[in-house]
Amino acid sequence: MQVVELIQKKRDGIELEKTEINYLIKNYVNESIPDYQIASFLMATYINGMTEKELAFLTDAMLYSGDVVTHKDASSLLLDKHSTGGVGDKISIPLAPAVAACGVRVPMIAGRGLGHTGGTLDKLEAIPGFNCYLTEQQFCKQVEEIGCAIIGQTNKIVPADKKLYALRDVTGTIESIPLISSSIMSKKLAEGIHGLVLDIKYGTGAFMKDLDKARLLAKTMVGIGKRMNKKVTALITDMNQPLGNMIGNSLEIAESIDILQGKGPKDSIDLTVELGAEMLLLANKARGIDDGRDQILRALNSGAAYEKFEQMVASQGGSIEAIRNNNYLLDAPNKISVLAKESGFIKELNCLGFGNASNLLGGGRNKITDQINHSVGIELHKKVGDKIEKGNAVCTIYACDKGIKEAEQRINASILITQQEVIAPKLCLDRISSN
Ligand code: URA
Repeated sequence: MQVVELIQKKRDGIELEKTEINYLIKNYVNESIPDYQIASFLMATYINGMTEKELAFLTDAMLYSGDVVTHKDASSLLLDKHSTGGVGDKISIPLAPAVAACGVRVPMIAGRGLGHTGGTLDKLEAIPGFNCYLTEQQFCKQVEEIGCAIIGQTNKIVPADKKLYALRDVTGTIESIPLISSSIMSKKLAEGIHGLVLDIKYGTGAFMKDLDKARLLAKTMVGIGKRMNKKVTALITDMNQPLGNMIGNSLEIAESIDILQGKGPKDSIDLTVELGAEMLLLANKARGIDDGRDQILRALNSGAAYEKFEQMVASQGGSIEAIRNNNYLLDAPNKISVLAKESGFIKELNCLGFGNASNLLGGGRNKITDQINHSVGIELHKKVGDKIEKGNAVCTIYACDKGIKEAEQRINASILITQQEVIAPKLCLDRISSN
């Protein structure tokens, strides 16, 4: 097969065959095809899109470029959740133990933050000793014994995505629906799950800035799952303001612990309950969505979800003392209030601005090799729609010595107050399911 002919086919809008896509992916992973040819293929895909068939072939080729985890215990279904990411989105951390506490196993492979978005692994590493890199055997054993584990992608899982994602990052080909959906779905299906709940974020802090594109991404991913005999439900949720009150790694662990004890902010609790209920529904553990919601709420309020979380943290080497002690998690040396410049209603808390401010403090990374500071971040005291008086705090900055002034400026530019009453945005905007 001639690689250049396959690129030309893609460029000219001719559908590629399964063998042709397999050839490209297999030989890219084993380094027989150079980056520049795959970069050209990616750009042709970005411009021309993919047919349903091509997308299925690509996802399959990526999935089987490495190991697919097999869980020996087949006594119950395995479910996971994936979020397309945003600012303050810590929901995976309380969700996995909450769902496990309801009797559904969750083998979660999560990612790191990049740009203005945070990553679940970085947040978990704010707990001293927490090990995100279990072997496949340790991962399966923990899921079997405790019911949940959250780990990072190993080199053996979807190696094609590791290479393709890095190349997309530097060739302007990230924001492509077929490339995003094959990348996410291949990694999630490699966990050996039976069903998946997708949290597709839409808004200023999300990949998908408009609702129609978010719906298309959701439908595309649900379609991939369906063709692969997996049960998939996607919720489209708001990312026009940060989720919950805490932004930053150890701050988000503190909020996760609150959620696990039924005490977190309303939007964080609501989303945990909604996504958890959908997972229980797909796992045949709930009679309907209301029953699913009740079960998750009971797990949070009874302490069962928190207990699961402690078991997971202990099993992955994390310090229980640290998670029981808020002074440890909220210990940044400088706490600076950002005050409202006028009285009125909060109209906007720009996600991108808050995410970038957290990065300026050292809480995020611009390239994958950057070191991050787990203790810095921002605590919101007001959300969109809330009333505020001039001089009251909109948020508190948790800082060490880096970027305080710049972060403060960025945050001030991200807050919009108006005199007219503002209606708080709806959290869940749509639901798309394979069932
Ligand atoms: N997350 C992924 O894992 N892949 C993408 O392409 C985009 C977001």
